[in-house]
Order: sequence, then structure tokens, then C-alpha cells
Amino acid sequence: MIGNAVFRHYFTGDTTLSALESLTDHVRQTAMLDSVQSLLYWDERTYLPALGGDFRADQITTLSSMLHQRRTDPRVGEWLSELSDDAQVADPHSDVGTLLRQVRREYEKQTKLPQRLVEEVARYSVTGQQAWVEARKSDDFSKLAPFLEKLLSLKREQADALGYPETRYDALLDEYEPNARTRTVRETLERLRQDLVPLVQTIQDANRSAPIDHLKGHFPTAAQSKFGRSTATSIGFDFQRGRLDVTEHPFCTELGPNDCRILTNYDESFFPSALFSTLHEAGHGMYEQGLRTDQYGLPAGQYVSLGIHESQSRLWENQVGRSHAFWEHFYPTTQQVFKSAFGNLSIDDFYFAINDVRPSLIRIEADEATYNLHIIIRFEIEQELINDELQVADLPGAWASKYQEYLGITPPNDADGVLQDIHWSGGDFGYFPTYSLGNLYAAQFFEAADDALAGVDSLMRRGEFQPLLEWLRENVHVHGQCYSPDELIERATHKPLSHEPLMRHLRAKLEPLYLQ
Ligand code: ZN
Repeated sequence: MIGNAVFRHYFTGDTTLSALESLTDHVRQTAMLDSVQSLLYWDERTYLPALGGDFRADQITTLSSMLHQRRTDPRVGEWLSELSDDAQVADPHSDVGTLLRQVRREYEKQTKLPQRLVEEVARYSVTGQQAWVEARKSDDFSKLAPFLEKLLSLKREQADALGYPETRYDALLDEYEPNARTRTVRETLERLRQDLVPLVQTIQDANRSAPIDHLKGHFPTAAQSKFGRSTATSIGFDFQRGRLDVTEHPFCTELGPNDCRILTNYDESFFPSALFSTLHEAGHGMYEQGLRTDQYGLPAGQYVSLGIHESQSRLWENQVGRSHAFWEHFYPTTQQVFKSAFGNLSIDDFYFAINDVRPSLIRIEADEATYNLHIIIRFEIEQELINDELQVADLPGAWASKYQEYLGITPPNDADGVLQDIHWSGGDFGYFPTYSLGNLYAAQFFEAADDALAGVDSLMRRGEFQPLLEWLRENVHVHGQCYSPDELIERATHKPLSHEPLMRHLRAKLEPLYLQ
């Protein structure tokens, strides 16, 4: 029982605690409150009735305010300064060294933010997301625009209060990918773009098209749900410590050391949507389930960055789930379950179809190759918004022209254009580049695992996913925040982050399909 161990001091009212014990208890109680807020968000995006929205915004604002007060409690500063010479700080990768480093980082940031700003951001993030649902449903950008204006002005204020090394965007990016710099990310994504665009062009010119019509048909939700659950179980998602539910926009959230929620969305007429989103979210979930429960609520037991989080979901979705070897194991069952659609379809045609590459409108449905172009568009646009170089009113037009420029297509409406993602309506500016960083980390981790395990394909063909999961546990999950993303990738792969493993992965898969 984690509760007894965690709050030993708190519940016994022990007043003779050391600074370290006091700080640890304080941080764990804050994490407890934070998990309650996550539960409210989870419920908001699953079951909350429409008219419950205002009260939910009040609840979340109240909790955000309490969390901010706890994180800026002057005692935290006192404990930190008392501990600044502690011998345990000397090893920055130890649990205690990590606790002190990360709490200090968070404390220094939070104390720069006025309480009023924190509350306003929380309130507008909830009401903005509610406005987004309406705006998207009615394809009416004007219903969201005022919320975006307000959120942008709050986010600019936040960036200015926090301070930044080079650009305002640095301060926002730091929320999701700690210590990442806009300039470095821009350079990495630019190298990726320079290699990707010609590859996509070559594929388009090749005149071979994947038989994607075979993925359409009738796939009853109940059968998809059963199949998705059993596949997620096979790769290692633990349903004793997690749940799979349904929502409009799939996601994963952790509500406690043994309570990880993943969500998917079923399309009865198109097979890949739910399955790949289930694999993706299960990948996120397995990262959460691989964190150390004895460190729950403390930095050593928390995910290190959204880029690393996304690497775990993309690795299971793409490097694993879209591989030929994976389907050599699962396709016979798939054919039995969905006999009318796949009974007579060869595995090679199925494999080609799920690896179809073509420029498309919707990010979450994009293939592995063009996906990063969707991200680069958003990354460029949000930098312009934050820097006040683009006005909200001009956003739909800017969106359409970038889609034309990078992908050669123009959205027919805003619902399938600028309104397709939830992020900006929730104030998440600076989040998008972590998706592409995740793709890069995923490819680099997978190459290293493939080497270490002497070929993951032969394992997958036999339905053995445990060795790969264990490699990820050892090299990524158990470290929590003890190493930064840069340190993790160096330790696990012996190289700094590069776009090359992803390009090698894409070429190795796509050239045989398209350029025979
Ligand atoms: Zn994800």
C-alpha cells in the first residue's frame, strides 16, 4: 500500500522531520492533488455532460490554484536551501539528486508566475477546449477565435514572466520538453524536412499506390474492441493497472501508480484508425506502467519529457505495429475475426495498405512519412502566433497556405483544417514539436534495441514482445527524470539525437514498397 508509506510523516504529525523528509512528503502530497486534477480532466474528455462544463472549469481552476500555492510554498525554498550542500546532491542522477534538481527547477519557474495568471490560464484552457468542441462541430472558427486570442495573450505573459534564453517560444517549449531550445529543434526538423520532402516526392512519382480500399468495410465496434484489447495485452499493456475507454480524440493519462487510462476511437468503416491509436496509446501507457512505483509522485518516478513519452507510443505504433513481422504473427487472427474484409487479402497487400504514403489533411491519420510535415507546419505557425507575427483572424488562411506549400493540398473547410487539433484551444502552444522529436527518438531507440536483441523482427514473428519492452524499461522507463532526454538517448544509443535513424527506417520500409 503506497499510501501508508508515502504519508507516514504527514499522518503521524511527526514534527521532527529532516528537511529532506519534509520536502519529499510535500512533493508527494502535491502529486496526489495533481492526480485528482488529472482525473477531472479525464472525466471531462470522456463522460462529462455538456452543462457540467462551467462547474468543471471552477473545479480545475480551484485545484490549479491550490497546486500553484503548494509549488510556490516558501518552505520549499527553505528546504531547498537547507539541502543545497547535502552530499546526496553530489550525484545528479541519484533519486535524491534528481528530486532536488527537478523541484528546484519547478520552484524557480512557478514562483515567477503570479497566482492570477495561473488561474486564468487554467480557466481559459478548459473553456477554450469546450469552445473548440462546438467550433469544430459547426465548422465555425469564429467560435474559437476569441478564446485563442485570450490564451495567446496569457501565454505571452507567461513566457515573459518565466524568461527565456533566446525567444519567447523557448519558455513555452520548456514546459513540454525541458531545456530544449527552439533553435536546435528548428535545425533538427529542418534537416528532417530536407530529406523527407524528396522521399515523399519520389514515392508520389513512383506511380504505385497502396490497396487502401481493402481497409474499408464493416468492422463492428465490439469486435474491434476485443481485438484491440488482446493486441495491447500481447505487447505488454497491463489491464490490471489500466483501462481502455472511448473518446473523440484518443489520449493516455496516468491517474495513479497502478491506474493508467488509455482511450481510443472506433471507426466501424475503417480498420486501421482504432487499432493503431490503441497501439499508440498503449505505448504511452506502458511507459507510465514502467515508471518506478516506489518513486510515485517524485521526479525519479515521473516521465521525463513529452518527446520521450511520444517516442514510446510511436515505437509501438510504427516500428512495431506497422512492421511486416508484427503482422506475420497477428494477421492470421485478424483474417479470422474480420473474415469478410480480410479473408481473401494477402498479408503483403494488407502490409502495403497500412503503410500507404500520401499527403493528407488530418495529422492523426497521416502516414509515417508525411506526419512530420504536419508538425513542421504547426511548429512554424505557433512561433509566429506567439511572436505576434500572425494574428488569430489570419490563422485559417495561414494554415491553408502552408498545407498547400508543404503537402500540396488545401483543406476544404476549417473543421478539417485549423480546427482539427485540440492543443491550442487548451493553451498548449509549444507542444507540437514534441511529436516529431518523439518520432526521431523512437527510430533511434528502436535501432539500438534491434542491435542489442539481435533482430526484433524474429521475436515479433513469434509474438514475443517482452524482450523489446524490457529493453525499453531498462533504458528509458525506470530512469524517470534521473537523466535528461539528451542523456537518455546518448546512454541508450551511444549517439546524440539525429534525424538519420528515422530516415533509414522510412527508406528501408518504403523503398521496397514503392520503388520496385
Ligand atoms: Zn501520443
